[in-house]
Amino acid sequence: MSEQRLRIAIQKKGRLSDSTVKLLKACGIKVNLNTQRLIAHSENMPIDILRVRDDDIPGLIMDGVVDLGFIGQNVLEEESMMRGVAGEATAHKVVKELNFGGCRFSLAVDNDFDYQGVQSLSGLRIATTYIHILKRFMEEANVPYTSCMLTGSVEVAPRAGLADAICDLVSTGATLEANGLKEVEVIYRSTAVLMQREKALSNEKQCLVDKLLTRIDGVQTAKE
Ligand code: ATP
Ligand code: ZN
Repeated sequence: MSEQRLRIAIQKKGRLSDSTVKLLKACGIKVNLNTQRLIAHSENMPIDILRVRDDDIPGLIMDGVVDLGFIGQNVLEEESMMRGVAGEATAHKVVKELNFGGCRFSLAVDNDFDYQGVQSLSGLRIATTYIHILKRFMEEANVPYTSCMLTGSVEVAPRAGLADAICDLVSTGATLEANGLKEVEVIYRSTAVLMQREKALSNEKQCLVDKLLTRIDGVQTAKE
């Protein structure tokens, strides 16, 4: 793949995919994404689109192997903390906040749980995907707990007897309700953002990024 082409990572399949692809198209990038291929080359701009799991995007930018990435702030925050602990590269720039992917990362317990504040969770097991964001909150609240890392189906953990409480992403609250859970504490608010690698791009690539950022502003303002 040519080094001259701007590399943009997007979530292959999930909650951010449709909005991200729509935004790229609204910015005038012509690209065929009707294939299963990892890399899609734009037909009208020197841009390559990489389609990956969202969890892989922050690391690819922090390692400088991809130039831009569309990602949820929660995933970016979690990866930054994980890499911080491991002593790995975390540098990056957030170049745009986006008006999609909004959600909150919240603690939730069974409907019949007598919740009197975070202290009520003392000594309990909490299932979550984003263990570092939860850890920071619980340490700040000075409440000891046991972390139970699950990459999916977090909301069924209490009913399955895997955990006493959960900390998960919520938008409408319908999933919690369907699982007999109530949201008791919002610990982080997230939207999608556009992140860029820390290391300077060539002039040509940076010009293209600046053009895209201007177009994103135009698209987002028009939507407001
Ligand atoms: P992948 O297969 O790429 O790892 P995933 O299952 O981790 O996908 P999705 O469920 O597609 O992730 O969510 C992607 C992002 O969408 C989340 O990290 C979050 O920033 C955002 N989001 C917005 N609303 C919600 C919601 N209600 N539940 C979960 N994520 C949400
Ligand atoms: Zn993921």
